[in-house]
Amino acid sequence: MNVQNRKPRVAILSRSFGTASHAPFKVLESAGIPYTIVHNQEPQNTEHIAEIVGDADAVICGSDVMDRYVFDRCPNLKIISKHGVGLDSIDQKLAEERGIFVCCTPSANFETVADFAMTLILALQRDLRSNIIMTKTPSWNKPALTHDLFRATVGIMGYGRIGRAVAERLCGFQARILVYDPYLDASKISTPNTKLVSMDEVLSQSDIISLHLPLTDSTKNIMNRDAFAKMKQGASIVNTSRGAIMDYRALYDALRSGKLRSAAVDVYPQEPPVNEPLLELPNVIATPHIATYTVESNDRMGIAAAKNIVDFFGSQI
Ligand code: NAD
Repeated sequence: MNVQNRKPRVAILSRSFGTASHAPFKVLESAGIPYTIVHNQEPQNTEHIAEIVGDADAVICGSDVMDRYVFDRCPNLKIISKHGVGLDSIDQKLAEERGIFVCCTPSANFETVADFAMTLILALQRDLRSNIIMTKTPSWNKPALTHDLFRATVGIMGYGRIGRAVAERLCGFQARILVYDPYLDASKISTPNTKLVSMDEVLSQSDIISLHLPLTDSTKNIMNRDAFAKMKQGASIVNTSRGAIMDYRALYDALRSGKLRSAAVDVYPQEPPVNEPLLELPNVIATPHIATYTVESNDRMGIAAAKNIVDFFGSQI
């Protein structure tokens, strides 16, 4: 770490940092670290990001792109503290080469995302969206039959923090849980009624699949046309991980053709989604990337992201 004569300055880009309470700001204030609140509304506009980060020593970011363009124009940058997890918008390799420390808040929000994935799983099984709409129409007394989650077969792709927490919740429903995670040793499965299987087995046997993968070269478009074709007829899928993990056009076609019964998505290849046809389908529940948006999680993430900055600068302050 560089010793410097002035106090490090933090640019807060994350739009949701400190929304629930002042506690995350207090962490910086108590350590005497000055900050600028930017709440960046253009997370993909690197020109704008470089401008607002400027000569800051640290950033607290959300999905803001941090790449070569930004690094080249922000020479003081020493630490990127992600408010959340999923570091796919940050060029981590280049950051390492430039000596920029990258960190995130993995323990702060995984239970919250798991709660939300369960909300979507249950909402799809019971066709909540259509039934809410139908209540206000003359056909309110002709609802279609829906499906139990109780003893359903649920596929989980990615059995990390969130995937495991979803599996823990599914145990209460006596679900049969199929996991696809090629980096996981079977001995690390900690939930009952859970089997580590191939991706094809997850696809072909699950009544509903929930995705909990990081966005990497190996997961990009992992849910493509071919994968949807292998899914069980009439199954459903939930994506709370990253939009680019799925081919949304292929998902649209699978839903339109009746191959899949329904889908719920919290994330999109482009955010906010522009002209996304998926949003027009009646059997789709679409939410605006809000899986972590609770008061409790917001405080935990904010405090953890601020502490990461304080710990990094440590005795220099
Ligand atoms: P994690 O790192 O704890 O777990 C990811 C798991 O995926 C690991 O077990 C890993 O082995 C597995 N995996 C990696 N590549 C795989 C592949 N090709 N096929 C199958 N499994 C693979 O991460 P986490 O905390 O559980 O979070 C998962 C992702 O959820 C994050 O990377 C982020 O993109 C997303 N997320 C979204 C929100 C939201 O607001 N919607 C919030 C938090 C996290």
